[in-house]
Amino acid sequence: MEPRPAVTTLPDLSRLKPAGGKRSSKREKIVNVFLRQEGHLSADDLVDVIRHEDHRISRATVYRTLQWMVDAGVARKVDFGEGRFRFEHSYRHPRHFHLICKTCHRSFEFLSSDIESIIEEVAEARNFTSSQSVVQIYGQCEECRTGSSTLTSQGHTDLLFARDALRIAIATERSGLEFYTRAAKVTKDARGRKIFEDLAHEEGSHLVKLEARYNELLQRDPQLESRPTFLFFKGAANGLFAEGAERLMRGVNDQQALMMGIRCERGSHRFFKKYGEKFEDSEGKQIFLEFADEEREHLELLVREYRALVKRQGGRTRRTARALSSARASR
Ligand SMILES: [Zn+2]
Ligand SMILES: [Zn+2]
Repeated sequence: MEPRPAVTTLPDLSRLKPAGGKRSSKREKIVNVFLRQEGHLSADDLVDVIRHEDHRISRATVYRTLQWMVDAGVARKVDFGEGRFRFEHSYRHPRHFHLICKTCHRSFEFLSSDIESIIEEVAEARNFTSSQSVVQIYGQCEECRTGSSTLTSQGHTDLLFARDALRIAIATERSGLEFYTRAAKVTKDARGRKIFEDLAHEEGSHLVKLEARYNELLQRDPQLESRPTFLFFKGAANGLFAEGAERLMRGVNDQQALMMGIRCERGSHRFFKKYGEKFEDSEGKQIFLEFADEEREHLELLVREYRALVKRQGGRTRRTARALSSARASR
């Protein structure tokens, strides 16, 4: 695993030097100040912040640099319908949607891969190549509505994203652990039982690692746990294992137990890979892709075991092939 840079680390901007290689210290200063800001700034907000640090930098230079940052992909331009653009930086700041409060004019970020999937589906059905999609929910935030000062501020989006990715991975790992623990109990074949015990053990030690990583995140932001949900999912992979664990209790034979493990791992692997690949570069993406790899290893192990079991029990290979491909089809 590659070492993960702390979220406060600024990107290497050397590749962003203007053509001709001339160093522009004003531009560098503006970029650095901009990257330290959270939230969505108007050009004038940025001018205020910059001029506070260095009053010799002109408004025009800030405007020009902002446009240059947009072109270079350092900044994203967002339109909240206020008659002026706002800007957010894109460094370790995955793409997202916005909730916008009409009362206090603050905006809150979230990500929903279900929404993204629907957008893709619609575009595809209409033979449309989409390059950008914007989802904005206008209304009133909880604080403006109730007067209660709940923790609505988001903190660092990359951290929130990593937190939510880890929560999903941990939930999946927990239900995987439950599934394999039960599977080991119901399996009569000694070798099959050993496999399930080993997998339960492995899920258990992964769980410890994920929880340690989660705690490490909490140290970077003590309020992280109480910040609002960023990443929304319907039907994450933990549901697969939970359903599987329930079915195990209704009585299955060894082959069926292995096949259920295969289905769960395959579904889980696909879930984490599909979404991991969709996300932009971020710690949350890494968590998803690493988890997808672990699930694939479990899947391959179970498939090998299934084949070995069928062979030992004198099953025909054609039946095995058919069962495996139906597991694949039902993902
Ligand atoms: Zn509000
Ligand atoms: Zn935003």
